[in-house]
Amino acid sequence: MSKFLNKKYLTLEAYTPGEQPKDMQYVKLNTNESPYPPSDNVLNAVNRDSVAKLNLYPDPECKELKQAMADLYGVGTKNVFLSNGSDDILNFFFMAFCDGEEHPVIYPNISYGFYSVYSKLHGADAREIPLCEDFSINIEDYCKNDANVVIANPNAPTGLALTLDQIERILISNPDRLVLIDEAYVDFGAESAVSLISEYDNLLVVGTFSKSRSMAGARLGFAFANENIIADLEKIKYSTNPYNINRLTLIAGKAAIEDNDYYMDNCKKIQDTRNYTIAKLRELGFDVTDSKANFIFAKSYAISGEALYRELKKRGILVRHFSNSLICEYNRITVGNDEQMKKFIRETANILERKIEL
Ligand SMILES: *Cc1c(COP(=O)(O)O)cnc(C)c1O
Repeated sequence: MSKFLNKKYLTLEAYTPGEQPKDMQYVKLNTNESPYPPSDNVLNAVNRDSVAKLNLYPDPECKELKQAMADLYGVGTKNVFLSNGSDDILNFFFMAFCDGEEHPVIYPNISYGFYSVYSKLHGADAREIPLCEDFSINIEDYCKNDANVVIANPNAPTGLALTLDQIERILISNPDRLVLIDEAYVDFGAESAVSLISEYDNLLVVGTFSKSRSMAGARLGFAFANENIIADLEKIKYSTNPYNINRLTLIAGKAAIEDNDYYMDNCKKIQDTRNYTIAKLRELGFDVTDSKANFIFAKSYAISGEALYRELKKRGILVRHFSNSLICEYNRITVGNDEQMKKFIRETANILERKIEL
């Protein structure tokens, strides 16, 4: 740290991304990326001609991609916001709407790590609401607090999902507060709340191309809401970096939307692989949540979470372990392709000195 850093950032704790070690080739099951590549349409659209135009700024209004998103999701273009990854949108949300005691914010104590990082970054009055023992969210906790609400649905890293009825209850009970539903994993088996934005002017639904659309490396996030909320987000974007989505990503995003069936088929494959892997882990005696995401959250009674993480790493498999004492017996395992998950199961059985048929 230099002596020049602003005082307000002295105690800021930055987010820790999943490790990307280069010492050997790992089966990477630690950052919830898709095991499947972008579609042919995307590979063809990002070509020599599009690279040749990199001397020109991208369209700050993202008109074409906004239109494609609006058509696909059945909303107006004024209800769509696009940004450089959904982390960017979460950052804008905290910057725009959460500030001190007048605009407090609540979210589950076990959830996506960035919520607390952005809270501190923007000086929000943030409160973490404990999950129930089984990691489920008690809706009542979010109905009686006069605060903005942030919930990942499905939640990370538990994979558990809320129903639309439950989300609606939260929306109805907080008419003067914003409710952000982070749908990074919604395409893997939960219900999207997008259909509710016309009814509730306090709902902001956030999504990403990073997980279900195989574009983590392109950085593209989106949000749907009432047009006034979108206008506020645009104001923040135009006050920071109007060109925050580059030309190639805009082209790739539009091509991906045109190939939506390819991605939704991949999501089905990932769900099948997930359910198979969960069944095998249960055979091995693991406690596994009922994940509706592209990851599995599991603990063994035979080995600690950290020891399993370390043993798997030695065998060339990376999973995500969290040191938080509430979940340190668990690991979060991204669902890869069938071959990767068979290797994961085989090595896990070896570590536990168990036999299993695949
Ligand atoms: C991965 C993830 C994001 C971030 O996605 P990007 O679009 O890659 O920034 C946001 N929220 C949750 C819950 C995630 O898991």
